[in-house]
Amino acid sequence: MRILVTNDDGIAAPGLVTLEAIAAALSDDVWVVAPAEEQSGAGHSLTLSQPMRLHTLGARRFAVRGTPTDCVMMALGAVLTEHKPDLILSGVNRGGNLAEDVTYSGTVSAAMEGCLAGIRSIALSQVMADYSVGKEDFSPAAEHGADVVTRILGIDWPSGVLVNVNFPPGPVQGVRVTEQGFRDYGNIRMEKRTDPRGFPYYWHSYGREPSTPGHRTDLEAMHDGMISVTPLHLDMTHHATMAALAARF
Ligand code: MN
Repeated sequence: MRILVTNDDGIAAPGLVTLEAIAAALSDDVWVVAPAEEQSGAGHSLTLSQPMRLHTLGARRFAVRGTPTDCVMMALGAVLTEHKPDLILSGVNRGGNLAEDVTYSGTVSAAMEGCLAGIRSIALSQVMADYSVGKEDFSPAAEHGADVVTRILGIDWPSGVLVNVNFPPGPVQGVRVTEQGFRDYGNIRMEKRTDPRGFPYYWHSYGREPSTPGHRTDLEAMHDGMISVTPLHLDMTHHATMAALAARF
């Protein structure tokens, strides 16, 4: 089984080391094509207005100056052209990709791209109790990742489906198959700062909080200390509204 490993935190991210270990437990044919720099929040974006560079770092290790989606496309179109991967693993992200996060997430979007290419694709993310630099703990993913991926690969995989896995901070209580939750939108908070020349600049200051936990959502699984396994698909059509719209036309 050929495995392509990618992420959105960048080729030097500690979570990539964890995912490479998970992949190595499943196969000895593991390839890494990951962004040269952090691409968190890149979503499913493509680089269209500037050239992409492919840097060879080892026999099966490449960095792309581009987005996670660029990385999957580069892997399929320029690196693994003769023998496509059988599985794409994306992560392990530093932080959860829960609820509406999946639309912002470069980690999940790399798996979306793999899914569009007809390859079984799984996104893996680690929720942490402490995000301080040097305190990041990927041990729940490291401990359970290979087993969770193996169990997921045991299903008769439908086309057009990717799987989003989130690991809670330890201790892990078990595994739960979940649906995508939603948070309350809340107030958008922009953190305004001033640069050394006196001009203002801004950072996103995360303002959304978990809403009332839905039954068997990914958010609730994290609350309960459970590993969350959510099947996702890319058809965003809201079928229930089609008839109402059609009646207006
Ligand atoms: Mn990230």
